[in-house]
Amino acid sequence: MPELPEVEVTRQGFADRIAGALIDEAVLGKPLRWPLGCEAASLAGQQVHRVTRRGKYLLIHLSSGLLLLHLGMSGSVRFAQNLPQRGVHDHFDLITSHGTLRLHDPRRFGAVVFASGLNDPRAVKLLGRLGVEPLEGGFDPGAFHAALRLRRAPIKQILLAGELVVGVGNIYASEALFMAGIRPTVRGDQLSKPRVMRLHGAIQAVLRRALAMGGSSLRDFSGTDGQSGYFQMDAMVYGREGQPCRVCATPIRQIRQGQRSTFFCANCQKH
Ligand code: ZN
Repeated sequence: MPELPEVEVTRQGFADRIAGALIDEAVLGKPLRWPLGCEAASLAGQQVHRVTRRGKYLLIHLSSGLLLLHLGMSGSVRFAQNLPQRGVHDHFDLITSHGTLRLHDPRRFGAVVFASGLNDPRAVKLLGRLGVEPLEGGFDPGAFHAALRLRRAPIKQILLAGELVVGVGNIYASEALFMAGIRPTVRGDQLSKPRVMRLHGAIQAVLRRALAMGGSSLRDFSGTDGQSGYFQMDAMVYGREGQPCRVCATPIRQIRQGQRSTFFCANCQKH
């Protein structure tokens, strides 16, 4: 599943090149997770101003309104002048004067949704409950600690829920908790301030590293110019059940938390 680093790498791959482009046509394939929310023909003639990101949504700002693009479970985006003919898994083409932006999504949990602005109920529904961005100033260790003191859920599930901080998906939550020496099952309200400070730093370090490496989690993730952006992260715990911990050689354990796999070292993450 594309996570925040992959989405940000995707954004950086085409944002500058599409800025200023005029839309010729929007072509829809099979239905995605949600309907577009406007007539595709009404996008023609609009100008693309810029592309930003909020959580795992790409926001394509137009002269009137914006498109919210989500990669779902298996989506990837390409932007190029001469793309091959649309295939069976290509479900959205935005044909512009600078090239075509194409969403390829075999499982179709992705979406492209039009909103008239950030206050449009459609945008509020998708973006309104998102926590702060993990790599921006709003992610403050003191506020993070204060918010965790009110949460009784296991810390791993609090991170995955994305209501306090966005973008800490399954891989990055497991890795950050290992780096901080925190057991994934510990309740949020039982973490001391020093431990929360460590976790805060670990989340930022893990995400920055993934961003620097070009994203990590989608097997068929491809950069926006069609080159493979897949990077097999050198994980400390994720996907390593039964293998020796890289720090202490204790076999890594795997448990289920809320339908998701969690990996940890019982020795390095005692409590
Ligand atoms: Zn260990």
